[in-house]
Amino acid sequence: MRHVYALAELYVRLGDVEAARDAYLASLDADDGLAVLGVPADEVVAAAQGRRTRAACARCGARLSRKRHRCSRCGLRC
Ligand SMILES: [Zn+2]
Repeated sequence: MRHVYALAELYVRLGDVEAARDAYLASLDADDGLAVLGVPADEVVAAAQGRRTRAACARCGARLSRKRHRCSRCGLRC
């Protein structure tokens, strides 16, 4: 699972799953590399999105910036 999250991080930074996979593979040995090749692209995208939805308001779903702890749409403290 840690591979999925590492790939998701790179995907958010690079904007492309295969570019993220290439960058990540370069830092791994063969065994880990095989595991990373087996991670489906849609899982990487889902993990990247899951990471983003954590920064959304629990009540109305509005996006929150990381530094703000109050929803600008409904006023919920998060
Ligand atoms: Zn809200």
